[in-house]
Amino acid sequence: MPAESADKLTKKKSVKVEDYDEPVNFQNVSTELNRAYGEAHKHVFQYILEMHGTVTRKQLWTKFILYYTCYIAKRNPATAQCVVCNEEQLITLAEQLVKKINREIDWMKMQLNTIQSEFDGKLFVCLVNKHPYQGDLLSIAGFTPDEVFLLTKWLAYIFTSVDDEDDENTEDADGFIAKLKLSNMARNLPNPITELRLQALTDKLVQDKWIKEVNGGFDLQPRAIAELENVIRNKFQPACCALCLRVVVKKSLARQCDCKALMHQHCFTAFVKNATDIRPVRCPREVNGCTKVFYQTTQLHNGLQKVNQTVSRRSSRVEEDEAINSDAVESENESS
Ligand SMILES: [Zn+2]
Ligand SMILES: [Zn+2]
Repeated sequence: MPAESADKLTKKKSVKVEDYDEPVNFQNVSTELNRAYGEAHKHVFQYILEMHGTVTRKQLWTKFILYYTCYIAKRNPATAQCVVCNEEQLITLAEQLVKKINREIDWMKMQLNTIQSEFDGKLFVCLVNKHPYQGDLLSIAGFTPDEVFLLTKWLAYIFTSVDDEDDENTEDADGFIAKLKLSNMARNLPNPITELRLQALTDKLVQDKWIKEVNGGFDLQPRAIAELENVIRNKFQPACCALCLRVVVKKSLARQCDCKALMHQHCFTAFVKNATDIRPVRCPREVNGCTKVFYQTTQLHNGLQKVNQTVSRRSSRVEEDEAINSDAVESENESS
């Protein structure tokens, strides 16, 4: 218990000790949140900074309720776990908190962006740059021009090695880059990045939760997508989820309809949640002529599987793809 509340206890003898061990009323927490931006809001924002800019949505509401319990209501912190409310109220609380903080940090050209993980459907709140030139990686603070150059190549590798029906050999990077591939990329830049500097960069990206080290390489993480989504959309033509319309990075984890419509696993699960045998849901591409219906039990293949459907090619991308593919082959040869 904070020292201050213990102090209060001794002064107000009429108040029973147990009163302080009652969890706070959720309504009061909510009222505090909607008051002017104050200590409680600042505390949560500081926490996000301490966590290198990425927290789960649950951590966000937990932190706010805990602060309210300890420092505003001056109760035993343990009681914060017993606040009576439902999940919807907590979600609303987190959403309001995000809005509130965003209004406050807008002048810094920063914002909190909520994104759902393609890996486990977990919701993350990420502190990202809100820059005027949203399509430009250079406007994202914290990287040297050489690093930006490398990141751009890295993203190109991930987002333009899309599966191509005409070419069986083209493999989708599926959000992953091998360390060897990345080293080659860094070495072949006009202004090469040394192994040591590359190590420092990837260490920083791992620490800031942009990437995660897996099987001799790196997977892009929700934080990176939250930060780079505009850049990715502007520079490449990424696959997008037919339900939430956001970028799909890890196609192997997404679901794909016969019409090629891609859906994040978490979006698809939520979509079919209320479907019944009598009332299934229709493919979101119904307007484009897809007649497929989904039930709760519908198993769709993953988004990396090739589907025998002719899809109009984006001709503007052909040249770009070829340029990148030949580049990839070259550096692969070098490394072998
Ligand atoms: Zn989605
Ligand atoms: Zn479909």
